[in-house]
Amino acid sequence: MATTGQAAGGEARDTLGQLLAQLHLLGGTASRAELTERLGCGRSVMGYLLGELTDRGVIAIDRAGRTGTGEAGRPSHRVTIADTAPTVVAVQLNIDTATVATVGLGGRVLDRTDVPMRDAPGLDDLLDRICALAVERAGAPRRMVAVGIAVPSPVRRSDGLVYAPLHLGWPSVALRELLTRRFEATTLAGVPLLLGNDANLAALAEHRHGTGRGAAQLLYLTTAHVGLGGALISNGRLFDGAHGYAMEPGHITVDPAGAPCPCGSTGCLEVEADHRGLLRAAGHPTADVHDVARGAAALLAAAETGEAGAVRAVRQVAGRLGSGLASLINLTDPDRIVLAGSLAAYHRLAATAIADNLAGRSFLSHADAIPIRAGALDDAALLGAADLALQPLLDDPRVTLSRLQG
Ligand SMILES: [Zn+2]
Repeated sequence: MATTGQAAGGEARDTLGQLLAQLHLLGGTASRAELTERLGCGRSVMGYLLGELTDRGVIAIDRAGRTGTGEAGRPSHRVTIADTAPTVVAVQLNIDTATVATVGLGGRVLDRTDVPMRDAPGLDDLLDRICALAVERAGAPRRMVAVGIAVPSPVRRSDGLVYAPLHLGWPSVALRELLTRRFEATTLAGVPLLLGNDANLAALAEHRHGTGRGAAQLLYLTTAHVGLGGALISNGRLFDGAHGYAMEPGHITVDPAGAPCPCGSTGCLEVEADHRGLLRAAGHPTADVHDVARGAAALLAAAETGEAGAVRAVRQVAGRLGSGLASLINLTDPDRIVLAGSLAAYHRLAATAIADNLAGRSFLSHADAIPIRAGALDDAALLGAADLALQPLLDDPRVTLSRLQG
């Protein structure tokens, strides 16, 4: 099930799916004229498609609140997502929090619950809790397209095995199987359950809804609590390898003599440039992963004020990030780089340290001219999980809507 590889604006889709995908990419609201232009179809075709989606309760058309001017100077109706439109449940597993949210077309987060992981009694209890929260949200299960989950681990495409959730302290977990078994005893029985690596899903979300829009080869890197993830979106498709494990840029070596990494290697980019690396560079190492993010936030705040020791530490990790980026640029030839989480702060505070390493270490002469942008989405992985779950509706709306409407 390679749903994460689909492009939201893919050409293979039928016209109804293309229309829904465009409305989704436009945030769930657009003028009829704008949609007609994007699809390149005639007014009568657009009228037919909008009529079908209205009849099926997916969209609403505001004829009173006309905005803009359509073809031949006619005022253009505003198209929005109807309250009765199908939704998805999106789940994001972090070190300190499991977030469960209802998300609609256009990436609208309709509600969310954050479950503290620090007090989570164990995997079984956490999965019971996630299942219960998902069931609550599927109050009208026939409008629930799917459940999408973002996990901090490579995920095997064939069976949803969460292969190496290094920072959750879990062994490999057959997460799709464990949750599907729980769903079967509830109103969620039969609802598709789709899993993806959190950085992969965040990159997809940035490509569709954020700073990555329009990039042909988007290289995305992010760090949150601990660790560093990333992904490549190539011509609208996620590069995810033979089994779904790609890519893991956090585990390229930037210093063979560096710190040990939970993956078994040493000097990986993620231990040298994530929050743990930042705190070590500042002379304040901490072993407690729950304290790392707090300590790093304080250090970055100090660097923002120009405190010399903090600025030095940020420059050091930014240089390591630049080393890692140089290798990744050599491998992937991106036309845009998006840095999210604290990596965006490194770039803001120490752009020169990154640029110097790109210029010195990437053989691509233009490497230091590749645009580097900050991620735009606060909940990129959650929105990516929602997009993963919405994909069946965008790929084949008639089949999915018929299934939902029984
Ligand atoms: Zn590693």
